[in-house]
Amino acid sequence: MKIGFIGLGNMGAPMASNLLRAGHELTVFDLVPEAVNKAVSEGAVAAPDIAAVALCGAELVITMLPAARHVKAVYLGDDGLLSHVPAGVHLIDSSTIDPMTARDVAASAAARGNPMLDAPVSGGTGGAQAGTLTFMVGGEEPEFAFARPVLEAMGKNIVHCGAAGNGQVAKMANNMLLGISMIGAAEAMSLGVSMGMDPEVLAGVINTSSGRCWSTDTYNPYPGVIGTAPSNRGYTGGFGTDLMVKDLGLATEAAKASGQPVVMGALAQQLYQSMSFEGHGHLDFSAIIKRYLKDA
Ligand code: NAD
Repeated sequence: MKIGFIGLGNMGAPMASNLLRAGHELTVFDLVPEAVNKAVSEGAVAAPDIAAVALCGAELVITMLPAARHVKAVYLGDDGLLSHVPAGVHLIDSSTIDPMTARDVAASAAARGNPMLDAPVSGGTGGAQAGTLTFMVGGEEPEFAFARPVLEAMGKNIVHCGAAGNGQVAKMANNMLLGISMIGAAEAMSLGVSMGMDPEVLAGVINTSSGRCWSTDTYNPYPGVIGTAPSNRGYTGGFGTDLMVKDLGLATEAAKASGQPVVMGALAQQLYQSMSFEGHGHLDFSAIIKRYLKDA
């Protein structure tokens, strides 16, 4: 399929590579010329701006941008996608943004005759490279059916979550729980070890008991417990604290807008924000355990 792709960052670049490997024709744009050049070296065609992507003859345009303000600029800006893209061209935004903005942009696209899906991802840069991302998709069923084979070139689990914006709702709820559960794992591991438990033995007990979760059995924040976790390499790589602050901010903002209490989510947001404020926003979010370790 002929596809336009905007946003070739840490996630977008490997996603575009997988589309090219699957035989799709890509026309790409990013503000960073090196990112465009790399995609061109893999077989993509460079577009000089957003309008050129919109008018390249693609059946589908995919965007992978940092945050809601970039999504609004790329879709709704004066020289944005919706000013140029012909009616009937399908649109997918895979950025992680708030559901309200996703719904607003999808409504503007629909009004111009462009069906749109929100399809944020989970799985990180490793999943993007391996083509094993989970896509959480919001939008109409026929659009989901159209997009599914394309998304399958970049991901392993493609889940239709319901109407426009629901992909973002699913992503937001999952990441809020992840942020909270990591703090719980950090507290439990630190308390147990401070009172004399061996960290591996303690993790083994938790991971065969009712406290088990992804933050304890796959990504344990205590160093030395899980070989592949960022806690075993100085909290480098992985999922940056600043990204967790962003995702928890989306959850607390959405909660405010909908009048829903998220007590633990708001507390978690402030804990990670403090970590970021102290200059550690680049570290993996599991470094939150340093707040609980005397020698850290
Ligand atoms: P990134 O900052 O590495 O990449 C974003 C790209 O968008 C950059 O190359 C930037 O130049 C480009 N861009 C920004 N504004 C643009 C514009 N107006 N026109 C064209 N290009 C523009 O971000 P990322 O890590 O690739 O993340 C993208 C999205 O995926 C974010 O919403 C993030 O929250 C989400 N996400 C990231 C991860 C992760 O582990 N990095 C995991 C899951 C989801």
